[in-house]
Amino acid sequence: MRLRNVKNKDEILNNCNYLCNDYKQFKNFTNDKPIHVEIGMGKGDFIIGMAKKYPNINFIGIEKYDSVIVRAIQKLNDEQIPNLKLLKMDALKLNKVFDHKIDTIYLNFSDPWPKDRHAKRRLTHKLFLEKYDSIFKNKKHIIMKTDNRKLFEFSIKSFVEYGYLIGDISLDLHNDDYSNNVETEYEVKFSNKGFPIYMVDVFKN
Ligand code: SAM
Repeated sequence: MRLRNVKNKDEILNNCNYLCNDYKQFKNFTNDKPIHVEIGMGKGDFIIGMAKKYPNINFIGIEKYDSVIVRAIQKLNDEQIPNLKLLKMDALKLNKVFDHKIDTIYLNFSDPWPKDRHAKRRLTHKLFLEKYDSIFKNKKHIIMKTDNRKLFEFSIKSFVEYGYLIGDISLDLHNDDYSNNVETEYEVKFSNKGFPIYMVDVFKN
């Protein structure tokens, strides 16, 4: 998702206390609380909502485009959310930053890359699952939501072939009993159009 440039984008990015613009400069949390990351956070509704809802968990939103991150920063206004950090980075570099530090990964409405020749770009492809191995602390735990049935099917096969076990699954999250669900921008958009939202929660010891 690339967006048109926001006026004053550089000023907004440079003055944001939450954001690290260069992964080599990233400073992790200094407490022992669990760390959850969302890869491809988009405009940030989910990660900001989760950080406010669960103050005893640290949250990091990762996004590769400036033009998208800046929209998340605008939503933060001047709020102080000590358990939230944003990081501008491509998920391909995750292993360079989070060496066995992460407890849970969220993949929300990841780009589906429908063409077979682009399958390796899907964030649930084996190549990414291998990368995630090196960032998980102990138990590996991924929670995925999508409106895209083909991506969902591909991802479940990929998780299971890689040794993940399914902890929970929903083929219609909004009509199942998940009162703690925090919605993302895409989730609101697609559920408003009447599409079912798929969710799977997988883990590996
Ligand atoms: N998670 C948000 C939501 O549910 O509303 C945004 C979904 S949007 C379809 C996917 C986002 O993932 C885009 O903002 C895109 O730039 C980001 N993204 C895709 N591949 C990425 C990667 N390899 N590393 C970091 N971000 C990525």
